[in-house]
Amino acid sequence: MWGGRLGALLLGWGRRQAGAPGRRLLSSNAAAQAGISAPRCWKCGGPGGPERGDGFFCPQCRALQPPDPTRDYFSLMDCNRSFRIDTTKLQHRYQQLQRLVHPDFFSKRSQTEKDLAEKHSTLVNDAYKTLLAPLSRGLYLLKLHGIEISEGTDYKMDSQFLIGIMEINEKLEEAQNEAAIKEIESTVRAKQKEFTENVNRAFEQDDFEKAKEILTKMRYFSNVEEKIKLKKTPL
Ligand SMILES: [Zn+2]
Repeated sequence: MWGGRLGALLLGWGRRQAGAPGRRLLSSNAAAQAGISAPRCWKCGGPGGPERGDGFFCPQCRALQPPDPTRDYFSLMDCNRSFRIDTTKLQHRYQQLQRLVHPDFFSKRSQTEKDLAEKHSTLVNDAYKTLLAPLSRGLYLLKLHGIEISEGTDYKMDSQFLIGIMEINEKLEEAQNEAAIKEIESTVRAKQKEFTENVNRAFEQDDFEKAKEILTKMRYFSNVEEKIKLKKTPL
């Protein structure tokens, strides 16, 4: 049973090694006491998996452990699972984690730990980026509640809103100078700020349908923001 669990936890690279340590783990008394749900350190076999210590290093041998697949971005970044987050705290946590798992710090360690550091680092970057921006944070939070917005435009959007977006896009295409672009940019930014406040309210009221509707609108405006960025970049 352990070999399978361990293999699944360690993903590809662990499969080659899962046989021998798996047998050792099975015969260990501690393993029997801890039950099958407690992950073990891949290196020393001690009870140092993600559920113990800081969740990153084995408290016994200090080997970097695989990322905990059950941990969501909010938990990883030490944030309450809500739309309103403290972005300063998020930034501090990001820096703290990067100091902990940045691959540069593992250059003298085994290949296994180097690979794990890469995995952790990618995960931390993704978590940080996702939670930092209101749109991706909102979409992620909805996803945790089992609601996903498809990439297409299948969500019934009111035509007045769509006409508004078309008009902004036309204005942007016609904008001849930086002042004109800046004006559109500030309009879009104000709109996103308003949407962000509304999404926050919707989440506070557990009104996920409302949150979904506003986040869909935010995505349209986010596309406009991308176009503004491109237009501002000299070719
Ligand atoms: Zn260990």
